[in-house]
Amino acid sequence: MPYLPPPGPLETLPPGSAAKEVGDMAIDPVCGMQVDEETALYRSERDGRTYYFCSPGCKREFDRDPRKFIGRDEPPPHQHHA
Ligand SMILES: [Zn+2]
Repeated sequence: MPYLPPPGPLETLPPGSAAKEVGDMAIDPVCGMQVDEETALYRSERDGRTYYFCSPGCKREFDRDPRKFIGRDEPPPHQHHA
């Protein structure tokens, strides 16, 4: 009697379950870590934007010289073309 594996969608994962979405995750501009905006303990506002940090050390680094970290990885918020 030949063994037949049950026909199941083992390879197919429902959308959204495979990789972690970067929906509500902010990027710590200092160290690049992902920080959950809802649970972030350390945050700083600059130019109308809120930045989130993984640790008080990162926040302190940012507050000391924000321009060093702002706009490094992300495009400026005032783009002329979408
Ligand atoms: Zn950090």
